[in-house]
Amino acid sequence: MPSGANLLNLFLTLSSTRKERIMLSLMLYLDEAHASGLMGHFGAKKTEQVLVDHFIWPKLQRDVERYVLHCVTCHKAKSRLNPHGLYTPLLIPSVPWEDISMDFVLGLPRTKRGRDSIFVVVDRFSMMAHFIPCHKSGDASHIAELFFREVEQVNFDASKRAEYVKKIHEQARANINKMTKMYEKHANKGRKKVLFEPGDLVWVHLRKDRFLEKRKCKLQPRADGPFKVLQKIDDNAYEIVLPSAYGVSKSLNVSDLSRFMGPVESRTTPFQEGG
Ligand SMILES: [Zn+2]
Repeated sequence: MPSGANLLNLFLTLSSTRKERIMLSLMLYLDEAHASGLMGHFGAKKTEQVLVDHFIWPKLQRDVERYVLHCVTCHKAKSRLNPHGLYTPLLIPSVPWEDISMDFVLGLPRTKRGRDSIFVVVDRFSMMAHFIPCHKSGDASHIAELFFREVEQVNFDASKRAEYVKKIHEQARANINKMTKMYEKHANKGRKKVLFEPGDLVWVHLRKDRFLEKRKCKLQPRADGPFKVLQKIDDNAYEIVLPSAYGVSKSLNVSDLSRFMGPVESRTTPFQEGG
């Protein structure tokens, strides 16, 4: 592998204009200070410190920051979850039994009637809950029947009295609104809104729990890319064009994505290959 000085001479003979020569020299200095044999891909601040001990040029700090931001090796080795994406609350319902959640508590001791599970239906507006005993083996049509019998009928009368309790509803809605705003403020602390467009190139953070195969060994890269954004699902989720070898779903959370800044490679790739 040619040394930094040899490379510099090589480039100096190849390039014609003075500006180009200076640019290439700066790139080599940056490369030496950040990614050469004795350097360990330090962050922008430390790389800058190494340089200012020997050189100084206008906008050195900016150049170092840009260089580190574009370093492919750094991205792959130091990737982590990003604080991207804001908390997006559900729409606030305006009347009871308009927006409900359903869940099951399964595997309980069997009752005399053979019921071993509880079907739980909660109204997001009034927080009223129905606990309906059922069978673990009950299919969708049976559950639907239970729902209409136990929930719809009981609350039908309540909806008829809607006018009467309208005022209470308005107050409840205002309360939920206030609590949501408070929670939203808390949940979004330290997070930032990052949006991508179809066609954008991104790094994908290889989350341990999701990319099990790719993170078996500690020394494996923590990120891969760049990959193309295929489409936006919502502000916090994107469909990414991942190679089929990944074997995971192509929709990823925005906290796993960071923008691909450019193709500047560190010296370890092109220069080593040539030498
Ligand atoms: Zn680096």
